[in-house]
Amino acid sequence: MLESLRRRVCDVAVEMERLGLVRGTAGNVSARDPDGSGLVAVTPTSLPYRRMTADDVVILDPDGSVRWGRRRPTSETPMHTVVLRERPDVGGLVHTHSIHALSFAVVNREIPVVHLEAVYRLGEVVPVARHAPPGTEELGRRALEALGGPDGPRACLLQNHGVLAVGAGVEEALANALAVEEAAHCYHLALRLGEPIRVTRDHLRRSMD
Ligand SMILES: [Zn+2]
Repeated sequence: MLESLRRRVCDVAVEMERLGLVRGTAGNVSARDPDGSGLVAVTPTSLPYRRMTADDVVILDPDGSVRWGRRRPTSETPMHTVVLRERPDVGGLVHTHSIHALSFAVVNREIPVVHLEAVYRLGEVVPVARHAPPGTEELGRRALEALGGPDGPRACLLQNHGVLAVGAGVEEALANALAVEEAAHCYHLALRLGEPIRVTRDHLRRSMD
């Protein structure tokens, strides 16, 4: 069932680990069927990415119940499915614990995005969603608050936990998750050198002239 979607989710999950955004079995990935069935493909729980194949990815109904698969879905399934239900513009989600972004999340501080190219992708800040326990729908609802609507940020931090990135497709969600980690890393390094210059709307306007 939905083999090409399962393959895309698996490929993104493997790439997420290759990029160093997670280790072992941490993090999770989901994608909505682009053909309008409402079905969702998610990574399984407790399986190392280096051993994962498309056949390990689980297919869910929109409410999160398992439709197809030989494994149990990620424990963060309620977070993924509530975001996909509430945001029809979102087709894929990537959740990581990437270390520089996580360091902002544990001090409950938004990431100022100071690299011009990253601002185009992410917006001017990566906000922090209020705390909610892992594995709950409440965590997804907190993320929805932080993300706002379709014109809002493309990712948020989960307080004391990690990163949730969204995209029109799951590949875009991964690119956004990577951009969040790079933005956090860049800000850390820049702080050692001096006071990072915040990107203003004026900067953005001039660069498009
Ligand atoms: Zn997590």
